[in-house]
Amino acid sequence: MNKQSASPPASVQPIRASEALKKKLAKLGLRNNADLIVHLPLRYEDETRLTPIAEAPPGEPVQIEAVVLSSEIQFRPRRQLVVRARDESGVLVLRFFNFYPNQQAMLAPGARLRFFGEIRDGFFGAEMVHPRFAKVDEAAPLPKTLTPVYPTTAGVAQSALRKLIAQAIETADMEETLPQEMSVALALPAFADAVRTLHFPPAAASLAELESRSHPAWQRIKFDEVLAQQLSLRRAYQARRQRGAPVLQSSGALARRLLAALPFSLTGAQVRARAEIEADLDAPYPMQRLLQGDVGSGKTIVAALAACRAIEAGWQTAFMAPTEILAEQHDQKLRAWLEPLGVRVLWLAGSLKAGEKRTQQAKAAAGAQLVVGTHALIQESVDYARLGLVIVDEQHRFGVQQRLALRKKGGNPHQLMMSATPIPRTLAMSYYADLDVSVLDELPPGRTPVRTRLVTVSRRSEVVAFIARQVAQGRQAYWVCPLIEESEALQLQTALETFEQLTAELTQCRIGLVHGRLKTEEKQATMNAFAAGEIDVLVATTVIEVGVDVPNASLMVVEHAERFGLSQLHQLRGRVGRGSEHSDCVLLYAVPLSQLARQRLKIIFENNDGFEIARQDLHLRGPGEFIGSRQSGVPLLRYADLEADAELVEKARAFTEQLLREAPEQVERHLARWLGGREELLKS
Ligand code: ADP
Ligand code: MG
Repeated sequence: MNKQSASPPASVQPIRASEALKKKLAKLGLRNNADLIVHLPLRYEDETRLTPIAEAPPGEPVQIEAVVLSSEIQFRPRRQLVVRARDESGVLVLRFFNFYPNQQAMLAPGARLRFFGEIRDGFFGAEMVHPRFAKVDEAAPLPKTLTPVYPTTAGVAQSALRKLIAQAIETADMEETLPQEMSVALALPAFADAVRTLHFPPAAASLAELESRSHPAWQRIKFDEVLAQQLSLRRAYQARRQRGAPVLQSSGALARRLLAALPFSLTGAQVRARAEIEADLDAPYPMQRLLQGDVGSGKTIVAALAACRAIEAGWQTAFMAPTEILAEQHDQKLRAWLEPLGVRVLWLAGSLKAGEKRTQQAKAAAGAQLVVGTHALIQESVDYARLGLVIVDEQHRFGVQQRLALRKKGGNPHQLMMSATPIPRTLAMSYYADLDVSVLDELPPGRTPVRTRLVTVSRRSEVVAFIARQVAQGRQAYWVCPLIEESEALQLQTALETFEQLTAELTQCRIGLVHGRLKTEEKQATMNAFAAGEIDVLVATTVIEVGVDVPNASLMVVEHAERFGLSQLHQLRGRVGRGSEHSDCVLLYAVPLSQLARQRLKIIFENNDGFEIARQDLHLRGPGEFIGSRQSGVPLLRYADLEADAELVEKARAFTEQLLREAPEQVERHLARWLGGREELLKS
């Protein structure tokens, strides 16, 4: 290795600043020169021109050059420095409420200064409050470029950032990371040009294009950012593929026996997904597949069939769900399906008593065929004898930590992740670039679409009467209590009150209650009673949000629906419409509704398709909030917008494989520039 390649590239050299300043810069995510050069302006100020006082349009930022006429401290209504200054065209009053003695000195009569700010009409004519200002000599040249305004934090002045960034641009590695033919194909400016343009745009550049980030220089930066994300996700995918995994080939006899025992046959979508999964399980590297399907599309049976393959091949399967109640449902269902076929199913959850847990862990270590539970399944103390397949239900609800823990579990098991949160295509390309995806785009036959009604809370009594009629016809209903994010105690109280109120109002009905504070056994007993038809109306907090399956329930009431997320509402609605009976979902809302709340309820009212709802939700909320990216482990894109810049994502994706194959050295530099050390997070 020669000496040059041993030293870090110039781009990742540390910032030269005091320790105190470095700490503050770190808060902005700025740790080296590479970070600085892509710390791009939020907006610009145009100091390339002077505006005569008399011509300055009110309310718009302008630069004035004027000579101070007078400067005095006044006390009406509060202490302030009032400066009058004039240019050829007129007089301007400048008002400062906070000022230092040296600033006052600069503003002495006779001084020539440039002021930058917005003019408004004050009591004494045109005035500027707290303009930025600098002393100038007569005929001092104006800057040739627009002045960048950067995102910053307390204690880091714009001027300091500008200086550091200008230095970084001088010294840092700004070399092109895209191969020539790719740059040509993209028809975007070179990286170095784009960076320079964005930090120091020429006076003639379009402010509108710059600030809306549609300028070609922005396109280039956004492309690079998205490309870095695609490259690192893809690389993580490939790295995992390098690892060997057990080959779970089997005759398929166990799965066939399960299928034969089912009261239904698989949908076309289920058949396709199953085939994709089996092809993965037959391969000598670990499956990394996401099974996506709307609520009720029948993901569980597809997972169970995969488990059959692993079990028949002599390997263990762990089946993990985010909540105990959901895990219990899976446990029951899987037992009902698989125990008659001779499969041993083991329950393992956090709520087990220490002794029981140890016993279960010992059984897992001894090779129990199917272990079902919560994330207790992947805790340190659980050692599997031969873990071949891990199934994760509602995978988006698990955080990075849990995914890391899963990775550390012995061997390299195949992974099947499931999610009912439909991800729009552009988002999926970005967040799931490291996964293969199977989609269940078809619901099992015989489902009747749920009729959704939006009802103001003032008509609550009509809804209660409707429940009474439904129950009289042998149906069952859910009543979901309002979400109170700020306070779990308040949420609980509301649930208790609702329970009491409904018990009083619906004297003919048997009412049950489940909420997050109940012990698992209590929750489970209530859920079982509901499933068995011993409870008519189940009052619940959002614990029933995911996965609950009671086909006879045909009415879902959600109180304060406007407080819920759209995907949550869609999930809740998916709890009904599972049997052959006609189902209703009543969304009770409180008036007045905000504009946004109105739009959201309209979306849920008008759409039954989870993907369409997700698409519109993404449009309303933006990707960050949509997916909860803070815990997804995928670094947020700072500049590109997955929806607005979908085209760039497509392009980056198209180049990813080729770059990894043909230009590994450029990939390294590209990732160092954009991700620095942050890539680790992606590898979970
Ligand atoms: P989800 O995808 O939301 O997890 P589930 O796996 O819970 O859905 O399935 C919902 C319901 O549909 C369950 O009662 C399941 O047994 C049933 N089901 C699954 N596949 C089929 C099918 N092909 N035909 C009929 N019913 C099915
Ligand atoms: Mg499910």
